[in-house]
Amino acid sequence: MAEISVELTKTPKKKPQDEHHLPFGDIFTDHMFLMDYDEGQGWHDARIVPYGPLPIDPAAMVLHYAQEVFEGLKAYKTQDGRILLFRPEENFKRMNVSNERLCIPPIDPAFMIEALNKLILVEKDWVPSLEGTSLYIRPFIIATDPHLGVRPSHHYYFIVILCPVGAYYPEGLNPVKIYVETNYVRTVKGGMGFAKTGGNYAASLKAQDEAHEQEYTQVLWLDGVERKYVEEVGTMNVFFQINGTVVTPALQGSILSGITRKSTIEMLRYWGVPVEERRITIDEIAQVADEGHLDEAFGTGTAAVISPIGELKWGEKHMVINSGEIGPLSHRLYDTLTGIQWGKHPDPLHWTH
Ligand code: PMP
Repeated sequence: MAEISVELTKTPKKKPQDEHHLPFGDIFTDHMFLMDYDEGQGWHDARIVPYGPLPIDPAAMVLHYAQEVFEGLKAYKTQDGRILLFRPEENFKRMNVSNERLCIPPIDPAFMIEALNKLILVEKDWVPSLEGTSLYIRPFIIATDPHLGVRPSHHYYFIVILCPVGAYYPEGLNPVKIYVETNYVRTVKGGMGFAKTGGNYAASLKAQDEAHEQEYTQVLWLDGVERKYVEEVGTMNVFFQINGTVVTPALQGSILSGITRKSTIEMLRYWGVPVEERRITIDEIAQVADEGHLDEAFGTGTAAVISPIGELKWGEKHMVINSGEIGPLSHRLYDTLTGIQWGKHPDPLHWTH
């Protein structure tokens, strides 16, 4: 792949002054990365340009048929002023898995890491430094052929935008209340659940809205066929500790392969904590909760890292987990993973760049 050209903005924005009140996903930096794909030519014209609106045809296929994929990762500033990325190669590998599912041409993960390094260096002063803050990175690909009619596009944009974001838990880790969704489903095996594509998130909005109306933070998704097996929690993977053993749903097509999920499993194994990837029924969770064997439950994802679950509501049944408090395992995982991400903790499995 050729050089990445850089055009710097002539009108830099004012950077947020108060890092205590950074919102999530509303402030964008001065520059973005862009490249084009054309059939016959491949990916070309990689460039860093001033952040701004895209020229896009109203007939662009992404606007009609949602042929798009995205990723989400973060850059973290350490106390000694270094900027760390957490397993970025995993995000670009996963992007190619999503690309394959959506008939989007693959990208070169090694080139994308080089491009990302270059973009972040251009924007290094946008990486916030207050504890818990980070620079959220959103790579995405959209189908831009001006064409009505369902087929894969012949032209795409690959774009990376960046936003400084605040601490996910400004007041410390906080257990959430979760509603077990028995009506709507996020995806089904054979669908796109394992891909990170906008349509999956559009499909989830209604259930999330209804859960909010009932004052639950998120939904626990069950499988789309029998509403029997546990899949994910909101936009996170889900873990349960049952009698000391950690279990998480096995990846079988409808679950996104989370990088925090993978890191959690690898860290648990490194610690010698038993961990199983298998099918888990909601009946089993209710039963172990009744018997007093459900030690902890938590979600994992880039945004929150570890999100302890304090309560599950399934139909008329309420399960309070660990008295609604944060369990010791959730706490240890949170402290270790965030410690590695912010460079405060040794990185025994060599995850940061
Ligand atoms: N599941 C879904 C549906 C998600 O959107 C995310 C967030 N990317 C995750 C799980 C967690 O993945 P990761 O740990 O890579 O952020």
